[in-house]
Amino acid sequence: MDIKVKTPQVQNFINGEFSRNGQKSMDVISPLDGSVISTLPVSGAVELDQAVTAAQNAFPAWSSKTLKERIQVFFRYRSLLEKHMDELTQLVHVENGKTYGEARAEVEKSIELCEFAVSMPQIITNEIQEVSRGVECRIERKPLGVVASITPFNFPNMVPHWTVPNAIVLGNTMILKPSELVPLSAMRMAELLKEAGLPDGVFNVVNGGKEIVEAICDHEGIKAVSFVGSTHVAKIVYKRSSSNLQRCVALGGAKNHLLVLPDAHLEMTANNVVASMSGCAGQRCMAAAVMVGVDKVQHIIDRMVIEAKAIQPGGNLGSVISKEAKERIEGYITEAEQQGAKILVDGRGAVVEGKEGGFYVGPTIIDYVTPDMKVAKEEIFGPVISIIRAKDLDEAIQIENSSNYGNAAAVFTQSGGLAKRVMEAASAGMIGVNIGVPVPREPFSFGGWNESKFGVGDITGRSSVEFWTQNKKTTTKWNPEDKTNWMS
Ligand code: NAD
Repeated sequence: MDIKVKTPQVQNFINGEFSRNGQKSMDVISPLDGSVISTLPVSGAVELDQAVTAAQNAFPAWSSKTLKERIQVFFRYRSLLEKHMDELTQLVHVENGKTYGEARAEVEKSIELCEFAVSMPQIITNEIQEVSRGVECRIERKPLGVVASITPFNFPNMVPHWTVPNAIVLGNTMILKPSELVPLSAMRMAELLKEAGLPDGVFNVVNGGKEIVEAICDHEGIKAVSFVGSTHVAKIVYKRSSSNLQRCVALGGAKNHLLVLPDAHLEMTANNVVASMSGCAGQRCMAAAVMVGVDKVQHIIDRMVIEAKAIQPGGNLGSVISKEAKERIEGYITEAEQQGAKILVDGRGAVVEGKEGGFYVGPTIIDYVTPDMKVAKEEIFGPVISIIRAKDLDEAIQIENSSNYGNAAAVFTQSGGLAKRVMEAASAGMIGVNIGVPVPREPFSFGGWNESKFGVGDITGRSSVEFWTQNKKTTTKWNPEDKTNWMS
């Protein structure tokens, strides 16, 4: 099997120390072959409280350092990510099941996120203005205190890097609660941050599931919570955290529509749509889930079928996260078939030789889906695309707009005018034109609309600076001779 890295037992990381202090424990399973690769402590309010105390104690010293001093840690940490690239990539591959190449791209993206964080002195220039003669107003960005980040299974390395470098560089101290399905990358992150010189208590990791998330939302010592995961849990976290007067941004699930017009470039479109729906086994919140084919697009669909058939589970397609996920995804395909949709490429029942215990679903293309079917409306989170046929662009836009979600939407066309109509009308936070996975890169920020995100602002880029800081406004006057009034 592919497991080349030694996978240690998972521990909590509190005040610079690793300890196994959860009350219960659960297995960590590699979806590549279904084997148990580790166990993790299932922590609760007691362990969280220890982490919050450590982070509170670390806050005065860390927040009073200059920004320049704080970013030095992340310069060193960025080099460590590069140095350990292969090992970190293997870890993601083994715990999440995505291909080695996809796992490597994830770690590379984490490096880019660190590069944004270390550029913070160029971004936070504060503001100062002489508002009346001799009277100056200035605005400075100050950290909030102890903050928390709760992350999902699908990007074990990258999603924690959406939040941790920015929040810490900006002077906060932090608690990370990784997904219990993929806790190994987060533990390695803690080791490398310590090696990079981050003082004890500034970054803490507490493992577990629902119980620890609820404890985070209820803890009076935690000032802000960022959450990334399904819409169902995002709503729970957003409501609970906000009702306890924490600042919260909660990113949820997605059902991304790609609108394909008849004039779209054949090869580029077919390749992009298939790559978007099948990359990371469809377990991306930016994955294509519905293709709305406008008018005559049969030639593009035929080409997509050829592209999809070249994708091999266990080769250029990774596993899905669990047995339950495989069953859920296959259930959606079967239900659509029973309701009259046509399965053009069928990924059900995929088995990889030598990894029979793994959880694989092959690429699946379902045609003649109608907007009322479950496969058209619900997030499947697997390598599956549903094709809905629309007679014109207005109908296609209306189909996209009727989704409860709004993470991404894309249009494939060679017409600038038609692309612009979609850019304006699509009800989604991230729009692609001839791009199947329209992730905004730093310094642009990442975040959806509708039920794909709750709270103000986005989670990365410039927008995250607002989230992790509060403004201090100071008005000063030094010269007693200056005669000032409101209008001078
Ligand atoms: P999930 O919602 O099941 O879990 C996310 C986190 O919440 C985990 O840390 C988990 O331990 C915790 N959790 C689970 N159930 C809980 C409950 N009932 N109460 C409190 N906490 C709970 O999500 P997942 O399956 O790990 O990740 C996949 C989902 O994440 C998909 O819906 C995907 O679209 C979404 N996602 C969204 C984005 C985005 O940017 N919008 C990015 C990545 C993933």
